[in-house]
Amino acid sequence: MNLVLLGPPGAGKGTIAGIVREKLGIPHISTGDLFRAAIKNETPLGLKVKEILASGELVPDSVTVDMVKERIAQSDCKNGMILDGFPRTVYQADELAKMVKIDHVINFSLSEESVVKRLSGRRMCVSTGKIYHIIYNPPKVEGKDDDTGEPLIQRDDDKEDAIRNRLKVYQESTEPLITYYKEKGLLRTIDASAAPDAVAESFLTALNL
Ligand code: ADP
Ligand code: AMP
Repeated sequence: MNLVLLGPPGAGKGTIAGIVREKLGIPHISTGDLFRAAIKNETPLGLKVKEILASGELVPDSVTVDMVKERIAQSDCKNGMILDGFPRTVYQADELAKMVKIDHVINFSLSEESVVKRLSGRRMCVSTGKIYHIIYNPPKVEGKDDDTGEPLIQRDDDKEDAIRNRLKVYQESTEPLITYYKEKGLLRTIDASAAPDAVAESFLTALNL
């Protein structure tokens, strides 16, 4: 089963993918995570996209599409995947349609006010990728990853200016995909405002699971 998670940054896509991926038995592929790993490892791709991520702009389509093509060619994707953060433009969606057949698109609906609260309190562990929130999902020990004890960081793009820019970029470039996938009969919208377990439940219900 090939799934696309749509919705504004901070709607909880990565969090819910983390909860449901084992049950679904397919990998969670986050283009944001792939870019951040490239930046951390200082690869040529990482050096190219570092400033773009920090500003909240989108990485050029051609670069993003090539990275996704390479990732989904790997054997763990043979039974499907959960795509999170891709596609983000109509061009990317058209390119994705040439690569795989998308079964469902789950649209995470959340007010802008809640998005800002979630993004500004988000913290993450760089090495494990685990996502926290200072109020809604705090670590056991303040500022430290539950599993490794490593310090948690605030993403550069979760600071105020970048958040505002990312919401603008979302509205201009990504929101049109709601209509794009609705017209293809693939879109199911869920209320992302409840607690993570309840959102995960709605997610599985939307897939008839
Ligand atoms: P996205 O992948 O859509 O950008 P994340 O999954 O990273 O969003 O979640 C953004 C922030 O909101 C994180 O700090 C996360 O802990 C928190 N969060 C995610 N889902 C919920 C929820 N259902 N209720 C409250 N906070 C949430
Ligand atoms: P995310 O972790 O999904 O919030 O993505 C973080 C950042 O990575 C975005 O603000 C973009 O700069 C970049 N990015 C992630 N996915 C894409 C994509 N599909 N197209 C272009 N840029 C992307």
